[in-house]
Amino acid sequence: MTLILLGAPGAGKGTRAEYIMEALSIPSISTGNLLREAVKNQTFLGLRAKDLMDAGKLVSDEVVVSMVKDRLMEPDCANGCIFDGFPRTLHQAEELDKITNVDMVISIEVPDEVIEERMTGRRVCQSCGATYHISSAPPKIADVCDKCGDALIVREDDSPEVVRQRLHTYHEQSEPLKGYYEAQGKLRMIVGTGTVEEGQKLIAKVLGIE
Ligand code: AMP
Repeated sequence: MTLILLGAPGAGKGTRAEYIMEALSIPSISTGNLLREAVKNQTFLGLRAKDLMDAGKLVSDEVVVSMVKDRLMEPDCANGCIFDGFPRTLHQAEELDKITNVDMVISIEVPDEVIEERMTGRRVCQSCGATYHISSAPPKIADVCDKCGDALIVREDDSPEVVRQRLHTYHEQSEPLKGYYEAQGKLRMIVGTGTVEEGQKLIAKVLGIE
């Protein structure tokens, strides 16, 4: 089964993807993670992407689509996958339709004010990538990772100005994808403001795995 998770940055796509990965035994492909990895390794592609990512803008369709094509060739994608953060433009969606069959698209709906609060309070571990939130999921010791003990940081693109830019980018370029997939009869919408457990229940219901 091939699934797409749509939703604004910070809507909870990553958390839901982890749950679906376990439930359906298919991998999750996060283009944001692939790009951050490329930036960290200072690859040619990573160097080209960094400034756009830091500014909350989209990396070119060409770069992202070729990265996804490479990832889909890996054997773990043989039975499908979950796309988290891809596609983000109509052109990416059209390109994806040429390379694979999408079964279902789940859009996680969260108002902008909730997103802003969630993202500006987010802290990530610079070593192991674990994620926290200063009020809803704080670490045991402030600014220290519970899992590996390294320092927690604010991702550059989680600053308030960049979060607002990312939301603007989402509404302008990615939200129209809902109409694209609705026309194909593949769109399901779920509320994304509840707890993690409530979110899992909603996902299980649309996937028919309750
Ligand atoms: P994310 O972690 O999914 O919010 O992605 C972080 C950043 O990576 C985004 O703000 C974009 O700059 C870039 N990015 C991730 N996925 C895509 C995509 N499908 N198309 C273009 N840029 C992307």
